[in-house]
Parts: sequence; structure tokens; C-alpha cells
Amino acid sequence: MSDSQATGAPRFPEPDLNLVHVKSPVTGTIVSNDTCLRGKSASFVRHTVIDVGGTPLEGRCRIGQAFGVIAPGADGRGKPHKVRLYSLACASDGENGNGRLIATTTKRVIAEGGPDARDDAHRLFLGVCSNYLCDLQPGDEVKITGPNGKRMLLPIDPSAHDYLFVATGTGIAPFRGMLLELLENSNTPVTSDIHLLMGAPYTTDLIYDDLFVRLAATHPNFHYHTAISREARDDGRRGLYVHDYLAERIEQFAPLLRRARTLVYACGLAGMQCGLFKVLAQHELGAAYFEPKPALASIAPNDWELSAIRRGVRLTDRCLIEVY
Ligand SMILES: Cc1cc2nc3c(=O)[nH]c(=O)nc-3n(C[C@H](O)[C@H](O)[C@H](O)COP(=O)(O)OP(=O)(O)OC[C@H]3O[C@@H](n4cnc5c(N)ncnc54)[C@H](O)[C@@H]3O)c2cc1C
Repeated sequence: MSDSQATGAPRFPEPDLNLVHVKSPVTGTIVSNDTCLRGKSASFVRHTVIDVGGTPLEGRCRIGQAFGVIAPGADGRGKPHKVRLYSLACASDGENGNGRLIATTTKRVIAEGGPDARDDAHRLFLGVCSNYLCDLQPGDEVKITGPNGKRMLLPIDPSAHDYLFVATGTGIAPFRGMLLELLENSNTPVTSDIHLLMGAPYTTDLIYDDLFVRLAATHPNFHYHTAISREARDDGRRGLYVHDYLAERIEQFAPLLRRARTLVYACGLAGMQCGLFKVLAQHELGAAYFEPKPALASIAPNDWELSAIRRGVRLTDRCLIEVY
């Protein structure tokens, strides 16, 4: 049987969910909260490590899941702030191998505008929870909940699959944890083919770049690709979004995508998956990963509008996507 005929149906674990509810959050302690960008950037992103030792979350969060953070204080209506979710950025056994330290990748939300999207009042807006979390210092306490989510886990048998991870922004968080779990944390690191495609507006916005460069240098089965959208390339051509990068190198990626054992994961900005779907469909590589609903299926992929793709596809179990 050829590779593409073999069955590639993945099996996923049943993770723990909502062990700690929003109504009775537990207290974690910040261990470190260091910047994790490649250079001096207009964004601010931190690798936030939290000690959850002694709480029901210890050892119970799986990579691919998120946890909740409740900022202190009240919103504009005097109600306690709502919980915000943050993806785990560490392997399932935590940052230190015993499940006690969990980590995430926190980006400060800084914007200009008013409470209404149509309001052009030029006032500084600071996201409540992201700025609270980024401000925290080692030793500070933080209210947390979770774990949440079961749609983007690693399969039960990781070595039975190859992987394409596609990330934009803090969507890199789960892939940091997955790569550490696949390549460095297990007694027998997987020898699967693993590609990470990371998109960022500028080179200085690449998150965990030094870690991925090191992993690529030490694991020949791991390949690290970057797509920089707002910088011209050395030869003067315009920058690339992740889907442009995939399209330009489709001959390199096609053998991986045709393999029945390959899983595609995408995480990051809402809408990022649409360009990927379009490129896959244009090159007849999409069928293993998604099925267009009838309205979309009646249109040739070259004419697919991004807005129609957004709700126009059903994912197969080989395509795992989380966007926010
Ligand atoms: C499953 C999941 C995983 C996630 N993982 C991560 C992660 O790993 N890392 C991460 O950083 N984030 C992650 N997020 C996003 C995170 O949950 C928060 O949404 C994010 O940090 C912003 O929260 P905030 O409280 O800072 O912003 P909020 O205060 O909630 O504001 C959010 C948005 O509201 C708009 N807004 C509201 N009021 C105004 C106003 N007055 N003026 C202008 N704009 C306004 C802004 O556009 C702003 O972006 C994840 C979300 C989900 C659903």
C-alpha cells in the first residue's frame, strides 16, 4: 500500500475539562514573565510561567488546551471581569517536567478607538487581562481556571503522524508546547516529519525564534519556516503571509500534505485558515483536511472569497484549528 492509501485516521485523548470553574478559581503564582520576541518590536509578548502546584490543575493540563485567567477588579458596568482564555505553551508535563509549572504566551492588547468599533474617538485602549497578565511579577498571585478545550490536541500515538503546524501571533503558544513534547520531552523523541510555519508582520515580531532555530539545528526531522508579511524580501519582492509561503513552495509541501499520516494544525488570528484552505484546494490537496459545504463546492477554488470560506468548510479529523 502506498503512503497516500494508508489509513491516517488519528485518535485523540479525552482531556480533563473544567476541573476549576470560573466561580471558584484557584490561585497560581507567577514564576517568570519574560519577553519572548526576537527583537525590539512594536508589540509586547511575554512567556508567562505560573506555578499551579497543590491545585487541581497540577499535572492535568494537556498541550493544546487553554486555561482561564480572571483579572482583578470590575468592568465598566461594575461586574467582575470575565475570564479570558490563554493557550498552554508548555508540554503536558509542564515547564519543568512535573506538571507544576504551566506557561502561556501573553500579548498585550493595545489599540486606539472607542468602545464601539465604528467609533473613531482616538483614545488609547488597553486590553484588561492581557495587560494585567503582562504586568505581573515573579511571586505575584493570579486567579486561574480550566483546563479548557479539546479540539486541538496531539494524537494518542504521536509517532504515527507527520505534522504541519501553522501559526500567526500568539497562535504559536500551543506549537511551542507540542514541539517540546514531540522532540524533547519524551524518552523517545518522535522521528516524524515536523514542519512549523510561523507568520509575523516583521522579523522582530517572531516569537520563540531562538528556541525554534535551536530545535531545527538539533532535530533533522524538524523544519522551521517563517513568513514575514510587511517586510520586502531580499530580492525586493513583497512580503509573504503564511498561505503565500505555502503556495510559493507547494512542491516542497505537497509530498507531506499527500501523506495519509499527516495532520495539519493552525492557530492564531481569526481568518488565517481561509488562505490556507484556498491554497490547499487550488492544488487539490485539501480533501484530506476539509470538505467544502455545497455553496462553496459549487465555486472553483480560484474564485473562493475569503468571507465565503470562513463558514463554508467542514474540517476532517486531520485538520485541527483554533483561531481567536
Ligand atoms: C482558545 C483561546 C486561546 C487564547 N490564547 C491566547 C494566548 O495564548 N495568548 C494571548 O495573548 N491571547 C490568547 N487568547 C486571547 C485572550 O483570551 C484575550 O482575548 C486577549 O488577551 C485580550 O484580552 P484583554 O482582556 O486584554 O482584552 P479585552 O479587554 O477583552 O479587549 C478585547 C478587544 O476588545 C476590543 N475593545 C474593547 N473595548 C474597546 C475600547 N474601548 N476601545 C477599543 N477597542 C476595544 C479591542 O479590539 C480588543 O482587542 C486566546 C483566546 C482564546 C479564545
